[in-house]
Amino acid sequence: MTEPDLYEVVNPATEEVITTVELAGAAETDAAVARARAAFDTWRRVAPADRARLLRAFAAAVDADREHLAALEVANAGHTIGNARWEAGNARDVIEYYAAAPERLFGRQIPVAGGIDVTFQEPIGVVGVIVPWNFPMPIAAWALAPALAAGNTVIVKPAELTPLTALRLAELALRAGIPEGVLQVLPGRGPVVGQRFVTHPDVRKVVFTGSTRVGKAVMAGCADQVKPVTLELGGKSANIVFADADLAKAAATAPYAVFDNAGQDCCARSRILVEASAYEEFLALLEPAVHGVRVGDPTDEKTEMGPLISAAHRARVSSYVPDGAAVAIRGSAPDGPGFWYPPTVLAPVRHDDRAFTEEIFGPVVTVVPFRDEEDALRIANATEYGLSGSIWTRDLGRALRVSRGVEAGNLSVNSHSSVRYTTPFGGFKQSGLGRELGPDALDAFTQTKNVFISTEE
Ligand code: NAD
Repeated sequence: MTEPDLYEVVNPATEEVITTVELAGAAETDAAVARARAAFDTWRRVAPADRARLLRAFAAAVDADREHLAALEVANAGHTIGNARWEAGNARDVIEYYAAAPERLFGRQIPVAGGIDVTFQEPIGVVGVIVPWNFPMPIAAWALAPALAAGNTVIVKPAELTPLTALRLAELALRAGIPEGVLQVLPGRGPVVGQRFVTHPDVRKVVFTGSTRVGKAVMAGCADQVKPVTLELGGKSANIVFADADLAKAAATAPYAVFDNAGQDCCARSRILVEASAYEEFLALLEPAVHGVRVGDPTDEKTEMGPLISAAHRARVSSYVPDGAAVAIRGSAPDGPGFWYPPTVLAPVRHDDRAFTEEIFGPVVTVVPFRDEEDALRIANATEYGLSGSIWTRDLGRALRVSRGVEAGNLSVNSHSSVRYTTPFGGFKQSGLGRELGPDALDAFTQTKNVFISTEE
């Protein structure tokens, strides 16, 4: 008998151990895949209306458990209670939205000679979902809901640091009547459980959200079995502010577009680009906005930013702000236990400074000036990433030109929203492959089968 691999789950705001979770090894992963494979044969045959009903019951169970799920996320990930409630509500909404899909999984009838040609959207099989620690609930839900709706069975591997809400979602699914083996949550290490999703021939699709480095390895591994992958990876998104914009609003909202979730957001607008003629005024307006971000106890309803996820991550974030760095504005953070880091604005920065080029994934933002529209696009696109971004201007033509010009998958004009469950989400360039959410997400969890039926005598 090998010793169980026990993992201590820590509250990042207090550094206290909340609980211990047993991590699965290779043998447990293979057993989970076998259960998912067996469950696939029955789940795919559940009548569409019944599959829809079960998903609606699952959404209702999540809804009834929202406060509990939110409290788990506050304790496990240090998310503010306001954010955690939104995330639990988002998981419910996504499951409810895709509960409508089983009854609308249409194929096509294509005109051909000598018969009838029809297509079917067939499920793929067992789907392995690998989730990062920054948004444990929504990211799990975005994959599992459309995958289940399309008739696949799912195994979710949460991040080592944040397994608790995913485990709870699996309990709620069972309680709602979703059969055993259809949705499993398997806490485990990336190179063990995650890697087994890549190599196991019965896992027929992998959804990976995480760093670009690991995502590339997952994609390369999947190539060996021609296994489809959806990748949601890193970002270094630009918040482009033109001089004609509502500068007060742009400056008031900019901190929240990067410091939300303590900057641990793949869509964080971590490069603020400001038209040179408005640069000084913008920085002056940004200062009180940054000082106004309430950093502290995530259980307090007024708190706007909590701690970073771990001591190791805080050390990594700090490395982007070495002694002597050009800190233009610095907010506050609590002393004492917890992995705190204050909101930090770096300006001026060189375009080759690693704080300007690399994803920091913490509450550090860089501000640089640009000359004109062309210069703004050149700077915004000078990155291998392409996930999200914002454009602030009152000129509609410019808003559309720049939206078309920025190489990123999710843009917002005069706002900072990236994610709605009804609209597609995903990255350009090395920020990802494929799209989640929105009306077309089922495409990523089905394969088209074409059947020709002869009508010849
Ligand atoms: P990570 O790549 O270290 O880990 C992500 C997941 O992959 C974890 O569950 C981890 O256990 C697993 N993993 C690690 N090694 C593996 C391997 N060899 N094989 C299979 N799985 C493995 O990323 P992280 O630090 O947890 O998350 C932060 C990153 O995620 C950031 O780069 C961020 O931008 C990105 N992210 C992207 C999106 C998006 O939608 N584009 C959303 C959230 C986070």
